[in-house]
Amino acid sequence: MQRELTEQRELTEQREPDVSRRAAPEAALPEHFDVVIVGAGISGVGAAYHLKKQCPDKSFVALDAQQSFGGTWWTHRYPGIRSDSDLHTFGYRFKPWTGPPIATAAEILAYVGEVIEENDLARHIRYRHKIVSAHWSSEESLWCLVAQCTDSGEERAFTAGFLWMCQGYYRHWQGYLPEWPAMETFKGRLVHSETWPEHLDYKAKKVVVIGSGATAATIIPAIADACAHVTMLQRSPTFFITGRNAIDLAETLRQLQVDETWIHEIVRRKILFDQNHFTARCVQEPDVVAKELIGVVRNCLGADYDVERHFTPTYRPWRQRIAFIPDADLFKAIAAGKASVVTDEIERFNAGGIVLKSGKELEADIIVAATGFNISILGDIDFVIDGKPLVFRDSVTYRGMMFTGLPNLAWVFGYFRASWTLRADLVADFVCRLLQHMDRIGARKVTVALRPQDRDMPLLSWIDPENFNPGYMLRAMHLLPKRGDRPEWQHNQDYWSEKDEIPAIDLGDAAFAFA
Ligand SMILES: Cc1cc2nc3c(=O)[nH]c(=O)nc-3n(C[C@H](O)[C@H](O)[C@H](O)COP(=O)(O)OP(=O)(O)OC[C@H]3O[C@@H](n4cnc5c(N)ncnc54)[C@H](O)[C@@H]3O)c2cc1C
Repeated sequence: MQRELTEQRELTEQREPDVSRRAAPEAALPEHFDVVIVGAGISGVGAAYHLKKQCPDKSFVALDAQQSFGGTWWTHRYPGIRSDSDLHTFGYRFKPWTGPPIATAAEILAYVGEVIEENDLARHIRYRHKIVSAHWSSEESLWCLVAQCTDSGEERAFTAGFLWMCQGYYRHWQGYLPEWPAMETFKGRLVHSETWPEHLDYKAKKVVVIGSGATAATIIPAIADACAHVTMLQRSPTFFITGRNAIDLAETLRQLQVDETWIHEIVRRKILFDQNHFTARCVQEPDVVAKELIGVVRNCLGADYDVERHFTPTYRPWRQRIAFIPDADLFKAIAAGKASVVTDEIERFNAGGIVLKSGKELEADIIVAATGFNISILGDIDFVIDGKPLVFRDSVTYRGMMFTGLPNLAWVFGYFRASWTLRADLVADFVCRLLQHMDRIGARKVTVALRPQDRDMPLLSWIDPENFNPGYMLRAMHLLPKRGDRPEWQHNQDYWSEKDEIPAIDLGDAAFAFA
């Protein structure tokens, strides 16, 4: 176990060089771009596409710490890795998705790769560039960035008029691992789903997967056939939706030989319409929805299975993302006896596995922690604004995209409940419109600021925990900016309203200060 942790630490160090505080570069000659995009995941590549189409005169570069594009879909390597939302809406609005709705990481990477190739974006992306500091100068209306090359350790300087933050929301190099008592006594292998070892041999091994979310639900059916047995150890149950990995409407439209561009748009609209209806029902009649979801699981597992204990959550549906289980594969593995679920709490680890609070012991050769993320605030970049270190938690968000006290910067934070990319596309349109507006009025600087009527506004946590409360958000809430009690100052999670509201934002509103 100790060896495993050391290996993981080495891996972590390899992926995450020491990037302790450093000053803005004085000597190095910086390379200048109108826009620097941080990250080349699905959001960063989308930003590059939109910028090129909508602001063709802007020079730009996307810098990413990884060796390739795709972000989440590049870094996650656990068995079975797949999306948990459909690719018609997780895909971009501008490029039809033609495969089954739930896609593997490889399929998503191929799709993003096509976007790069078809739009000649590769020359705008630099890999192995981890941005470590960003200094804003109001005098020059300029960002000064330092990027560390993750292979050579060399530092490179860039300047930018605008920073488009597409860095996602969690650390790719380090998953969240709770401190359980006596972890060091375990003699088997302890791995985290986010840093899955390349050649992990789980054949004929007893595996315990700790977690109850989409990751655990993906790994378990993917390894169940090969393992001696796999146990999902959860503290509390999660809601799941299951069904065929296909969309009837898409299949019908294909039979009718409708053009894929149309199919993409029609199916997106249908999915979004249905999701909006479902979300409304979750709020209006949560008990009915919960009963329906649990009923489907009961049908898959049979009347004798203890669905009450293992698949009946205590929270309201939709307070956490509901994972889609394609073709009920998790439930099939359980019904076949290859996988089982234990709902209990960890008392401590021991040499052979895990001792539970109930007194029961779970034997394991391998323990997989599918325990979620560590939030990365603004890409773990040291931000300094006019000589003062940024205290991000003191700022107020403008619609979850911009922040008071942070000039010339937008952050792409997608939806939790709907597909992330829906919002990435909307934010991209907004940023491009903002940049065009600045050119038109000759402004070099834009900041959002509370208007006189907002000054007495109560400031609340970034996300309302009553509305959405996964552990990784709750753990980081104290570090995130504040939200107000009116639409401009909230991070709305509702695509259905934002699809109309974001394009209608009035850039002449007093919330925007241009200079
Ligand atoms: C296993 C898994 C499955 C998921 N499935 C879904 C799903 O089905 N549907 C859905 O909507 N969402 C899903 N999500 C959430 C998912 O992370 C987002 O939807 C989406 O992929 C985020 O894309 P992104 O480009 O914004 O960020 P990321 O994918 O996180 O990419 C960010 C990129 O920025 C780079 N970066 C970060 N900081 C720096 C820096 N300082 N300097 C340089 N580069 C930097 C990173 O290296 C990374 O490549 C899933 C998440 C996980 C982990």
